[in-house]
Amino acid sequence: MGQAKQRSAVIGECIYCGSLNDLTDEHVLPYALGGQLVLPKASCKSCSAKTGKLEQKLLRGHWWPYRKMLGLQTRSPAASNELKSVKIIKANGDEISGEMPLESFVAAIVFKLHPPSILIGNETSGEPSAKETFLKLLGPMPSEATVNGKLYPLTSSDKVEFPINFDSRDLTRFLAKVAHGYAISKEGIAAFDEFYLPEFILGRTDGIQTYVGGYASPIITTTLPGGGYNRMMVRTRNDLISTCIQLFVDKGDPPPIYEVVVGRKRAST
Ligand SMILES: [Zn+2]
Repeated sequence: MGQAKQRSAVIGECIYCGSLNDLTDEHVLPYALGGQLVLPKASCKSCSAKTGKLEQKLLRGHWWPYRKMLGLQTRSPAASNELKSVKIIKANGDEISGEMPLESFVAAIVFKLHPPSILIGNETSGEPSAKETFLKLLGPMPSEATVNGKLYPLTSSDKVEFPINFDSRDLTRFLAKVAHGYAISKEGIAAFDEFYLPEFILGRTDGIQTYVGGYASPIITTTLPGGGYNRMMVRTRNDLISTCIQLFVDKGDPPPIYEVVVGRKRAST
């Protein structure tokens, strides 16, 4: 995207497990999604492998059409030519099985969540619940598919069903990871008495509904302040510090705003 990387102050410990050894730089949002903010020496190699695996899965799945929309290059062109199964639905209802390269996938799931339950005083072991999900088209529909090994031109009345490989737990773990890093970059580790998210981020436990959800605000707003595709904001209410996240703000309908409660603020002395 041509922007310079932004680096926070050196952190000097793993923000997930506290280790002081084998520290690497940590991108708050993956570079492949246009993330520029880096926390120097902030993740150990073991935690980095875990968060990296989750990110790779999402980058090749859920976030793929967004990367394409942004024109972000992939490091593996072969991946974008890989054929995936699709279903073509004709105007008369007939269904045809076909294939398309991942490159042609233009639909993504948009997932609106109820607010994190801790903000209304409840702690649960549930997964975040969606109040709405829908498909969003992020580009023009492809003009052809492959059927039985041959090119098959699509007409404007043909509908294409893309297989959506989507796991809401992956998305909420990812949001937790981004929120945790962002809040630390803004507030510093010392601002927190307790962090809520590392066990979830490392995949050691499920049930993140207490901390991850939709933006809970009495103020009606559709976009977070700031410019660019990806916007984040830290807010503190009572003794809870949250990061609000809105990804891929473009000219279309505003994407959902998520709120992730990162931890409890240290009482000032
Ligand atoms: Zn670690």
